Amino acid sequence: MIGIRIGAALAAAWLLAPLLLTATPAGAAGEDPAWAQVRLGTQGPAQVIGTYSNGCIAGAEQLPPEGPGYQIIRLSRNRNWGHPTLVATLQDLGRRAQAAGLPPLLIADMGQPRGGPITDHAAHENGLDADIWLRLDLPLLARDQRETLKPEYITGAWTDYIPRGALSPQQAQLIRLAATEPRVERIFIHPAIKRELCAMNWDDRSWLNRVRPWTGHNEHLHIRIGCPAGSPECREQDPAPPGDGCGADLMSWFPMRQPRPSKSTKPYVPPPLPAACHAVLNAPPVVAGQ
Ligand SMILES: [Zn+2]
Repeated sequence: MIGIRIGAALAAAWLLAPLLLTATPAGAAGEDPAWAQVRLGTQGPAQVIGTYSNGCIAGAEQLPPEGPGYQIIRLSRNRNWGHPTLVATLQDLGRRAQAAGLPPLLIADMGQPRGGPITDHAAHENGLDADIWLRLDLPLLARDQRETLKPEYITGAWTDYIPRGALSPQQAQLIRLAATEPRVERIFIHPAIKRELCAMNWDDRSWLNRVRPWTGHNEHLHIRIGCPAGSPECREQDPAPPGDGCGADLMSWFPMRQPRPSKSTKPYVPPPLPAACHAVLNAPPVVAGQ
């Protein structure tokens, strides 16, 4: 659903959904808490089912807690699961970031062991999304030290501008590296950060097409890969419009205004998951350590 050309007003209306999801505690308002409680993925080959914001995944893999060029934060959340292609993409990005002289990337939420509805996110449901913090000032830390880290905010979630120098060249480089990973289809980043990237001199600007503005994303970037081969039930997103996305599409976000909270007292009811996801939720788990 993300990626089609929309005006700021419509964008603001859409944004209510993630905000409501954020405010919804696990298990409330019709969200099945079983998705958050299941600790392991399923056996068998990886299968992506449904969309980024309404789906699940069988045969997900766990990204190892640390590796060349990256470290996972808040491991206790058990959200370092995803399609093997997402895992490989993050590992490749870590190696490229390390080769570029960046400190270890801080990988935040990917997905749950079987995907499905997940608190704090409107997407991250089908094993193809991952968040990476923009903070780039830490060495490799012990796992327990990574539980309580604070993010570095580049700007406010609904702020139109970035203080001068708040986005460092290294952070811009990180976004470029992520957007040039071959399997990455989209990067979501705060509109003011996208505008900053647009204003920079780049030899090749084609990667800017994959960097799309979205509110929030002021302390992390969101990486999204496309539907992998062998997952016929994976639902593709609409293609991004052509061009570097630095024109009217970006400018339609400004001035940014936080939408007023809905006066509706009805709780948010998520759409029903694809039927195949019920079998995924109830399938036997992988043997731990496999
Ligand atoms: Zn995200």
